[in-house]
Amino acid sequence: MDCTIRRTDQAPKEFRIPAMNTLHSQANASVPIDIDGSQGEGGGQVLRTSLSLSMLSGRPVRLHNVRAGRRKPGLMRQHLTCVLAAARVCSAQVEGAAIGSTTLEFRPGPIEAGDYGFAIGSAGSTALVLQTVLPALLQAPGRSRLRIEGGTHVPMAPCADFIEHAFLPVLRDMGAAIDFRLERHGFYPAGGGAIEVMIDPRPLQPLALDQRGALTELVAEAMVSQLPTRIVERELDALKSALPYAQLKRRELGAGCGPGNALVLRAQFEHACEVRTSLGLIDLSSEEVAQLAVSEFKRHLAHGAPVGEHLADQLLLPLWLAGGGEFVTCRPSTHLETNIAVMRAFGKVEISLEPDLQDPQRRWRVALQRDGLAGC
Ligand code: ATP
Repeated sequence: MDCTIRRTDQAPKEFRIPAMNTLHSQANASVPIDIDGSQGEGGGQVLRTSLSLSMLSGRPVRLHNVRAGRRKPGLMRQHLTCVLAAARVCSAQVEGAAIGSTTLEFRPGPIEAGDYGFAIGSAGSTALVLQTVLPALLQAPGRSRLRIEGGTHVPMAPCADFIEHAFLPVLRDMGAAIDFRLERHGFYPAGGGAIEVMIDPRPLQPLALDQRGALTELVAEAMVSQLPTRIVERELDALKSALPYAQLKRRELGAGCGPGNALVLRAQFEHACEVRTSLGLIDLSSEEVAQLAVSEFKRHLAHGAPVGEHLADQLLLPLWLAGGGEFVTCRPSTHLETNIAVMRAFGKVEISLEPDLQDPQRRWRVALQRDGLAGC
């Protein structure tokens, strides 16, 4: 098998706190919830959210049509690593965990803290593996350490900077104690990156995020590994002419990270942060890479909501964990709508998605209320 899953040891005894698996329901606990993987986006997110909710609720889940909406359906390495990582964290029984599999049955056991290492074995996204098991580890009966190897700056997934500056700060505002370290960058197609995350479980408080406040800092960091450094100079020159007030940073990465190039734009507002990453591609000029980052940033500026398009679908699980909360975002993506549908399939949750009264053309309000800690 391509994925190496390793769990080295248990969390030290002194960090253990009383079991918090109160989310596990006794009623109907053995009846699997059926999830159609082709719904909505029809991608890996349906699988990941199902795994996370299965671990948290204690309910088995049965998926069919896994990633049916994608050109190559079924489990790819990143998704298989998510399944195996989730299974390891809660000693689950799993059927269908193989590359290409379009069906999966997952029967969770109790969540355990530990020192976990997961290697995707490709440039698959380390962030997406992290987001699959993080909710469970935030409910574990002790501290955990997580090390994940794979891609850190890859297309169609949150890059490590997004996790560090946009996603985790919101969780910390909700009370989570999580340390994150980008150990080594990993680009598509070589991968080879690594992240390390320390999680100290604490109860999360409901989120209320409806204003982003003024822009306080805009930083553009261009990075390159095993490619000519003039790429970053051209990207930053092009960015500077479009956004003269941005602080510019250049970074030449070690040989083990590449080849690869990314332009990361971090916009810090008073109450929220947005990270937009534009990745260097063979058929894009450096100026086009910069232009993509600039136009995405301007789109974000224009809607005025604190929560951007991608962060919105990623905040639903933390809200579920906290028992509720709400935030204002931009026009809902299919990822957000799909995540809402998967959550509703697990039951005992009310989620509303409505135009925000302050600017109903451009902003939407997402509110979630979970019905009691007994979960599903
Ligand atoms: P596939 O699309 O191959 O099935 P997947 O499992 O990688 O695979 P999706 O189901 O599309 O993907 O989910 C992608 C996730 O990555 C979503 O949560 C989405 O919000 C997030 N995402 C995509 N692009 C970005 C980005 N540029 N910044 C932050 N998050 C992103």
